[in-house]
Amino acid sequence: MQVPFLSFSPQHHPIREEVLAAMARVYDSQWYVLGQSVTDFEAAYAAYNRVEHCVGVANGLDALHLALVALNIGAGDEVIVPSNTYIATWLAVSFVGATPVPVEPDAATYNLNPRLIEAAITPRTKAIMPVHLYGQACEMTAIMDIARRHDLFVIEDNAQAQGAAADGSLTGSFGHANGTSFYPGKNLGALGDAGAITTNDAEVARHLRTLRNYGSQKKYYNEVIGYNSRLDEMQAAVLSVKLPRLSDWTRQRQQIAARYDQLLAGITNIILPVVAEGSTHVYHLYVVRTPERDALQQHLTAAGIGTLIHYPVPPHQQGAYAALEIPVGQYPIAEELASTSLSLPMWPGMQEEQIAAVAQAIHSFFA
Ligand SMILES: *Cc1c(COP(=O)(O)O)cnc(C)c1O
Repeated sequence: MQVPFLSFSPQHHPIREEVLAAMARVYDSQWYVLGQSVTDFEAAYAAYNRVEHCVGVANGLDALHLALVALNIGAGDEVIVPSNTYIATWLAVSFVGATPVPVEPDAATYNLNPRLIEAAITPRTKAIMPVHLYGQACEMTAIMDIARRHDLFVIEDNAQAQGAAADGSLTGSFGHANGTSFYPGKNLGALGDAGAITTNDAEVARHLRTLRNYGSQKKYYNEVIGYNSRLDEMQAAVLSVKLPRLSDWTRQRQQIAARYDQLLAGITNIILPVVAEGSTHVYHLYVVRTPERDALQQHLTAAGIGTLIHYPVPPHQQGAYAALEIPVGQYPIAEELASTSLSLPMWPGMQEEQIAAVAQAIHSFFA
């Protein structure tokens, strides 16, 4: 049986007419930038995320970048980032002229390890950027405590974890300004690029609305040097149709993960996802680990099963960060994860036979 890495069909097919009608309303409105669709989605997403403000922007990377700008983080500052993350987290820090300072993850959850953060704090440190990697909430209570004690900002990278919770509160509601992405494959995905910042600070929200729109609140009056990074009306209309389904889709992801957990239990050479006490996991990705990763991936490809590696090279070993001259072995957990992680097929609506086929192919590899 062929099993793709990801299929949108079960999510998109039942809402096709509703999405097309929403797009038609934008088409007919003759108002295509920063109109009612964006305002409505921002209100809906803020309510969903249980925060005061949501500011829609063009993509997740811009959300993180503008959050840093709005908090006045810039040249000479240091920002603590995970050593294992998608490169966007680091790039946002670099864009404002600050230095990303990597901290290793907890080896079991792959999330930023709060017990290692304080050793990385210097007089230049301005912020911590936890990433809720693969959909699992970071240990936010501990991270917020450290930030409070050292007077640091927290900017959550919530691109992979919409709807996850730490100690009962949703990711994207802890930090001073938090970025998320609605890239199509994310748990809440648009039909193109889209992103948002969530915050409980009215002044930060106002600053962000200015920054995303040429530094302007009033047309042709520019208060600050801004950007053009607006959430698109068409994407906002699509996202408003999808948002009410997100909780159901999340439950489906969690059920599929539980099924993988059952079917793969007992294979000694594979490490399954571990959920920390107090955290929930919304399984943007179901990531397993094995020293035989490359051979397992080849075996699954030959069996018609799609997999991906998140991520094959940690940011500090990318060409983009060669200038940091970080020696091999400096961040051993990140390096180990890059060489052993494999993401299995996962999407809302994935069928039992498909899950079983993936598990069966993994069993046959290790047999
Ligand atoms: C997807 C992603 C981003 C960036 O989002 P885009 O919308 O693609 O710019 C940032 N951080 C993480 C962890 C992501 O997974």
